[in-house]
Amino acid sequence: MHSIFISDLHLAPERPQILDVFFRFVIDPAMRAEALYILGDLFETWIGDDDLDDGFNATVTDALSRLTGGGTRLYLMHGNRDLLLGQAFAVRCGAQLIADPLVVDLYGARTLLMHGDTLCSDDIEYQKFRAHVHDPNVQRAFLAQPLLDRRRQVQGLRSESEQSKQRKSEEIMDVTTATVEVALRNHGYPRLIHGHTHRPGRHVHVVDGRPCERWVLPDWYTRCGYLRCDAEGCTAIAL
Ligand code: MN
Repeated sequence: MHSIFISDLHLAPERPQILDVFFRFVIDPAMRAEALYILGDLFETWIGDDDLDDGFNATVTDALSRLTGGGTRLYLMHGNRDLLLGQAFAVRCGAQLIADPLVVDLYGARTLLMHGDTLCSDDIEYQKFRAHVHDPNVQRAFLAQPLLDRRRQVQGLRSESEQSKQRKSEEIMDVTTATVEVALRNHGYPRLIHGHTHRPGRHVHVVDGRPCERWVLPDWYTRCGYLRCDAEGCTAIAL
């Protein structure tokens, strides 16, 4: 019995190689796992579930629905890119949307799951932006616009975000250690799995005298991979 974790695939029509890796991944290893957790940013952009029938989006949802049809449970957390993924998407894939943060019992180890962007608390500018786009009124107003207008706006936001990332220091865009420790403390230790920072690795934090581990999932821009967890622990595996 084991579960696997991925995040930050940033699937987009402009990167067909990653889509090929994803299709192979869904067959093996994902179909062999009892559960697949996608911890955010499956898509580079998601402008609303009324875009489900777009050709690219449909190929991704078809692959995921074959996975759940085969018996693998699929859990989906929002990232900062695809925060508008909704119930219609989840139903189409046979997935269950999960909250960020979420605590699960993973084969006896209490494990906190997050996308990871809320851990980057030193990036004040980003956290302000995040609060804005998570406002239900802002989301409703955005979704009320025609698909074409939404697509254009998101494209604009993406190039702005690329420019602002170039201005920011590496430290600001990584997690803040104190925030990680608060998250582990508030959710009962001893393990945290998240993505978002594109800095895959395993970190040990001693929080209140208790050793905790933090796994950072790889993005699929530069390296494709996943985390495999069972009763023995977790292992990072490259694809
Ligand atoms: Mn992200």
